[in-house]
Amino acid sequence: MNELDSELVTGALRALGYRFVSEPDEAGVVLYNTCSVRERAEQKVWSRLGEMALRKAREPGLIVGVLGCMAEREGEALLKRMPVVDVLVGPGELDKLPGLLDNAVKTRASLAQEDEALRLLATPELEKPDVSLLRSAGESALQGNTHRRSGTLAAAQDTLELLDLSRAVSAIDGGHGASAYVRITRGCNKFCTYCVVPFTRGAEMHRPPDHIVDECKRLADAGVIEITLLGQTVNHYRFEHGSAVVVGGVTQPQKGRAYVHKAGEFADPYRGERVTTFADLLARIHEEVPGIRRLRFVTSYPRSFGDDVLGVIRDHPRICRYLHVPAQSGSDRMLGLMNRGYTVAEYEEFLLRARAALHQPQIGRPLTVAGDIIVGFPTETEEDHQATARLLERARYKNCFIFKYSPRPGTIAIEKLPDDVPEAVKRRRNNELLALQNRISDEVGREFVGQTMEVMVEGVSRRDVKRAKAASAAVAGGVTLTIGGRAANGAMGHVHEGDEADAACASGGGGVDGAGGVVQLSGRTEGDLIVFFDQPKGAAADDLVGRIVRVRVGEARMLALMGRMVEEGD
Ligand code: SAM
Ligand code: SF4
Repeated sequence: MNELDSELVTGALRALGYRFVSEPDEAGVVLYNTCSVRERAEQKVWSRLGEMALRKAREPGLIVGVLGCMAEREGEALLKRMPVVDVLVGPGELDKLPGLLDNAVKTRASLAQEDEALRLLATPELEKPDVSLLRSAGESALQGNTHRRSGTLAAAQDTLELLDLSRAVSAIDGGHGASAYVRITRGCNKFCTYCVVPFTRGAEMHRPPDHIVDECKRLADAGVIEITLLGQTVNHYRFEHGSAVVVGGVTQPQKGRAYVHKAGEFADPYRGERVTTFADLLARIHEEVPGIRRLRFVTSYPRSFGDDVLGVIRDHPRICRYLHVPAQSGSDRMLGLMNRGYTVAEYEEFLLRARAALHQPQIGRPLTVAGDIIVGFPTETEEDHQATARLLERARYKNCFIFKYSPRPGTIAIEKLPDDVPEAVKRRRNNELLALQNRISDEVGREFVGQTMEVMVEGVSRRDVKRAKAASAAVAGGVTLTIGGRAANGAMGHVHEGDEADAACASGGGGVDGAGGVVQLSGRTEGDLIVFFDQPKGAAADDLVGRIVRVRVGEARMLALMGRMVEEGD
């Protein structure tokens, strides 16, 4: 979600004439897009802000901004604690950033001029400048908890939607390669007791389906072939056309309604002609945007995942058979305390239902599932922990993110449940589950050995990027590595400014070479499995990146598959 926010903000600023540089030291404006889900992520930002304060004491014109969940969670207190920050924008107000930045540029200019202290601090002979005199330009846009959108407010104009609608999609506007995110739902109404998201991102809002489909079409026209639909609980997407509100000619996003289903019925109870359900949305994108060869979505909520959605995935070949559906724990007692709203048995019933509908390895269409687990949630006993281990054994995720519980200010858990599992116990449980999941991932991977799979090529493998970087460092005047004008970093979408101009190889001659002149490429299957394979002789890596190729899997190693690209006639 943060990656998409950054892309949207970058596009909006670029359109206003801001230029982007690859090194923060070269920037006159430094913006941090932040996450508050775990404390560690916030600690990193605090320490970066400390470094920025030292820099600003020497460069009074520097503008620093904090965007996203940390801005919303900390609020104006952040400006008091860190006056180096000039701009503070919550995730629900990102459309306001250009205006605030404009104000901040003007305010900074006058602050820097008139502030004697800042001028003094700017003198280079001071080794460690006094940052206590820094003053913030004080530009902020936050929603605040009290502003969670109500039914009435939903009728007011949702200006954040305009940011999504004005998304710049052409390659010149920043480029996202062959893969892109599209938001369908913002915010969350679930209030899991450990989670800050409902407080920082606000109430669950569903974007109008026409906006989503148009965005997908624009992305497909710009060369995107894979789209991942985003939301905290994507499968609860629903847009009721009968109650759509239009302001200034723009259909407004709609507040999420409780998603309840009758016992034994697994489909959106509100489905009908005047409603677009999640299943309808998937089918619409599949049909109306044929250029999208892979359609994915994250994250799914295990409760109320309809058979209608599973049916649409089964019947539409370009919808990926991949689900990221976090369980969080294998203990009913923990799930209750977390307010997840389902039991372990219900979670597993869903997995069985999903696999029955979608796991078809015999036709080359297996279903892969990924999960999330939190260890060390308050009062978690060894018995609860073992129950989670047993769930991992049964769930057979292709991978699972395992997090140590991090108490977050403002959440229900921090108020009501003391963080009583010692850090050392959390660490041990985390390591145990990681080791277990690694073994399971390995076993899941081995099921694919011998198969030929479609792989979307993302770039040069990390191994070869490292090798090439080392070679580049050894060559005087070595330049940034690029493949097809994109940074050769093994992942798509990370465009380094200036790469196009600098495009050249590490060793000075025509391509990034791995061992023996062969480049190892990496890509992903429909089921999100990572695959490494060597660039075939005679094929240019540039031409393969962003394409779907066929790879025969020869080996499974930990979390990745190793294979050989199968060419026509092979
Ligand atoms: N909406 C998704 C869902 O409910 O499955 C997850 C979104 S959350 C931003 C991503 C993951 O972070 C969660 O699935 C959970 O495992 C983890 N997480 C959230 N809050 C946490 C906390 N306070 N401590 C540790 N992990 C946390
Ligand atoms: Fe957080 Fe729960 Fe919402 Fe996911 S569903 S974002 S974990 S509150």
